Amino acid sequence: MVIVMNPNAAEEEIDQVMKSIRSLHFDVYRSKDRYRALLGIIGQPGEDLCSILEAMPSVEKIVPVSQPFMLASRDFKNEKTTFEVGGVEIGGEKIVIISGPCAVEGRESYLQTAEAVKQGGADILRGGAYKPRTSPYSFQGLEEEGLKILAEARERTGLPIITEVMDQHSVELVARYTDIVQVGARNMQNFKLLKELGQLDKPVLLKRGMSATIEEWLMAAEYLLSNGNYRVILCERGIRTFETYTRNTLDLSAVPVAKELSHLPVFVDPSHSTGRWKLVPYMSLAAVAAGADGLMVEVHTSPKEALCDGPQSLIPEKFLQMIAPLRGVAQTIGRTL
Ligand code: PEP
Ligand code: MN
Repeated sequence: MVIVMNPNAAEEEIDQVMKSIRSLHFDVYRSKDRYRALLGIIGQPGEDLCSILEAMPSVEKIVPVSQPFMLASRDFKNEKTTFEVGGVEIGGEKIVIISGPCAVEGRESYLQTAEAVKQGGADILRGGAYKPRTSPYSFQGLEEEGLKILAEARERTGLPIITEVMDQHSVELVARYTDIVQVGARNMQNFKLLKELGQLDKPVLLKRGMSATIEEWLMAAEYLLSNGNYRVILCERGIRTFETYTRNTLDLSAVPVAKELSHLPVFVDPSHSTGRWKLVPYMSLAAVAAGADGLMVEVHTSPKEALCDGPQSLIPEKFLQMIAPLRGVAQTIGRTL
């Protein structure tokens, strides 16, 4: 249930309403839209609390929430969530491009790729310093050295950076360097990690788990929101199906669905969802047409030598070629890129 406060409700009045809710042993979460404070109550308050609240002049109305993910839902906040990271607006009119290699493999190669994707039109740089690999014998990432290289790339290009955090013990270290923290598909339901990131003052990009339903994905986002972090980006990265030709199956319908259910920005990762670089431009076009607020695209200067995910990585030239048609689709649907 959401309590919509009057736009001119004073701080003391909002406090009073929150106290009344807590006095009846309900948890309450505070949010806001452009005009007013919104208070979300967990549970099913009875008639008594509803009549107390309705009688309060600072309360405009009470809205029942039909979804289990209350704070992430459009019932709670109908207006799209937008926020800024390092000069880049997330969730706004412009479709945001995140790009870079799967993993940070070395200083020279990373800085070269960072410059190339910047020229190609990237807004944010990606690169894993901690890699969640299926095999323990595969390259696991450069760890803090990788984070330092990412930070240097930010200095040189002026672009903000995103990198994955794999466990709650490294949150503090990763957050010291990165602008956006990425939660990988394999960690979407690592609830301890989500709680920790909910208390962090950094935006989080939450990948959809490879076998997660849209509701489970939004419930994972709810962990971040309910712990106080409202700067959350949802990222569809493909789900497991019976199809083996592609690495995963890109569930594009999840984009309009998630956007209808939630106010959070929704991105698409055409690289991990297909596993094949040739498919990346097509799925990127489709993702933009489906309403994605951003794309996360893997680029490598020499995919054959990549330590991770070479087959799905575009060379910088192909990345550059992909941008103009994307811009055309963006314009057609009233957005920019
Ligand atoms: C990644 O983006 O580097 C990654 C590992 O993606 P996912 O968690 O979607 O597999
Ligand atoms: Mn990858």
